[in-house]
Amino acid sequence: MPDQSTADPVFDTAAAAPLLGVRKGTLEVWRRRGTGRLPARLRRLVIQRSGGRCEYCHLAQAGQEATFHIDHITPVASGGQAVAENLALACVSCSLHKGARQTAIDPDTGLEAPLYHPRRDLWSEHFAWKIVRLIGLTATGRATVNALDLNRPLILAIREEEAALGRHP
Ligand SMILES: [Zn+2]
Repeated sequence: MPDQSTADPVFDTAAAAPLLGVRKGTLEVWRRRGTGRLPARLRRLVIQRSGGRCEYCHLAQAGQEATFHIDHITPVASGGQAVAENLALACVSCSLHKGARQTAIDPDTGLEAPLYHPRRDLWSEHFAWKIVRLIGLTATGRATVNALDLNRPLILAIREEEAALGRHP
């Protein structure tokens, strides 16, 4: 059976790299180990739909060495499927911090709240920028900022660099 991924225009890495603003080698690594179980068509849809940004913290893949993950919003272990409405592009840090969680504690109330759901929720209803810091506007926003550690020192430094390059949202 032919390898469908090599015939897919997005994962023709020479064509896809400029689209995502990453080096060709980055996508080669991604293709080989990042999202191997997903059909190429689905990977392409998730990447293009995201505009090449993490759908949680909005970090651009452009300029980042580590290739972003395709996150199952509802984890496979909880019955989440590899379908477009359950997938989101996530930077490595957001993906690893989120893990299999679907809820987290809102630090303002101490109550459990659903994590931000990139397909069902409107980002701007839950988050706002305060220069390079992300502020949670709702219980979901605050729980997600906290659980995904969206204002960790390294990401603040990256956002400052991105801002200098005109790439910070
Ligand atoms: Zn992120």
